[in-house]
Amino acid sequence: MLKREKLAHFSHFSHSNLANFASLNLSMFNLILFGPPGSGKGTQSEKLILAYGLKHLSTGDLLRSEIAQQTPLGIEARSFMDKGELVPDEVVIGMISSAIDNNSQTKGFLFDGFPRTPAQAEALDKLLEFKGAPIAAMLSLEVGEEELIKRLVKRGETSGRSDDTNEEIIRARLAEYHKKTTAVADHYKVFGKVVNIKGEGQIDEIFKSLCAEIDARM
Ligand code: ADP
Repeated sequence: MLKREKLAHFSHFSHSNLANFASLNLSMFNLILFGPPGSGKGTQSEKLILAYGLKHLSTGDLLRSEIAQQTPLGIEARSFMDKGELVPDEVVIGMISSAIDNNSQTKGFLFDGFPRTPAQAEALDKLLEFKGAPIAAMLSLEVGEEELIKRLVKRGETSGRSDDTNEEIIRARLAEYHKKTTAVADHYKVFGKVVNIKGEGQIDEIFKSLCAEIDARM
């Protein structure tokens, strides 16, 4: 073997070993923040990542960033999002898989808006099993339907999000939630990981309830 080839071989070998080593992070603490559109996942996520130093992975934010950059993924996703429908599983799972790989040194992930189907939940469990770092808990924000619609319509007045400005699209998103996403809670209930939190009331009170549940599991 030429010296250059040997070096290339060695550097490839050591890199892949390092990558495997880095991906095995047994102390990682991973949470899912769950709930229907408008339940306050984004608001509470911002506070939780600051308090616990977790990496926030919101599929909604990741998709909107792909749309803003006009990537092929973003262009495909947009056609579903504009109708209030879920983006196909394989698109979202691929996106989350790369985001996990790109943040292998984090203390833990806070998943927001993902998983949204049982297939996504199974894929996430496999990805995290590979890292030796399962989901510690799924925190589920409970908010009544009329309150959700009120909040989303109000958010639409300032957020610039096209899917928040039309009540028909808002109702379609809530229908998708009931049809496809509630089953994700059943998936994690089997493992005793679901914690229900009242998502109505003061933002800080809800945050305190979330923190109490997290602290009890850390
Ligand atoms: P909200 O919780 O208010 O619906 P998000 O920002 O989480 O807002 O999601 C906006 C849209 O992005 C969804 O209506 C859906 O079309 C798409 N989306 C986000 N996350 C997922 C996901 N995990 N699977 C499929 N589609 C998703």
